[in-house]
Amino acid sequence: MVREYAVIGLGRFGTSVALTLQKLGHNVLGIDTSESKVQSVANELTHVVQADASDENVLRSLGIRNFDTVVVAIGQDMEASILITLMLKEIGVRTVVAKAATEAHGKVLQKVGADRVVFPEKDMGTRIARFLSENDILDYIELTPQVSIVEFAVSGPLVGKNLRELNLRAKFHVTALAIRRGDQIILPPSPEDPIRREDILVVIGSNDDIDRLQKFQEKDK
Ligand code: ATP
Repeated sequence: MVREYAVIGLGRFGTSVALTLQKLGHNVLGIDTSESKVQSVANELTHVVQADASDENVLRSLGIRNFDTVVVAIGQDMEASILITLMLKEIGVRTVVAKAATEAHGKVLQKVGADRVVFPEKDMGTRIARFLSENDILDYIELTPQVSIVEFAVSGPLVGKNLRELNLRAKFHVTALAIRRGDQIILPPSPEDPIRREDILVVIGSNDDIDRLQKFQEKDK
């Protein structure tokens, strides 16, 4: 489904969000006070506007209320980011996603109505630390701070057994969602098919349970 997005602030984060949404086939309006920022993506986005989004008249004249999701991607100027988030919710935008530069900034954004607050630097830091510290975790999506979906490189005690024998759900409280085997993705994974050494197991579970599974695998390597 093609959706209408607006991205306010075309810094590195905002530009990356805007260009990705556009590549995914959606309509994207990019807004920035800086003419050069606007020009740099003018040919790639559906629409761009050079304007100060902290001016309520600007937001209203752009018909911002009709967008499905508005991303506020301003980090440095916290006052502008908070004011814009507040106005967007007052105007009636359904979903506002706001980028926070600090924890305190994030708290205020939440208070003024942001539906989702993201901390790109902090989140990326956590992600990279996790990859670095755990060799077997290739990628992961944090669903909540406690629960994740991870891609897990199979080795040691898991190789040669099938999912029925491994009984990951009973033993580790994690559920196997899929197996990545070369270019192939086996979905849902067969309970009878033995797991191969090069397989990547996609599992969902609490971080603690995933850690236990990982330690079990490490132990017998
Ligand atoms: P990055 O994503 O590059 O890390 P950042 O967090 O440092 O960015 P800023 O540089 O503060 O964020 O802001 C990102 C963009 O938002 C800038 O291009 C800036 O011109 C734009 N911007 C700031 N205030 C406004 C405003 N009131 N209306 C529209 N755009 C704005």
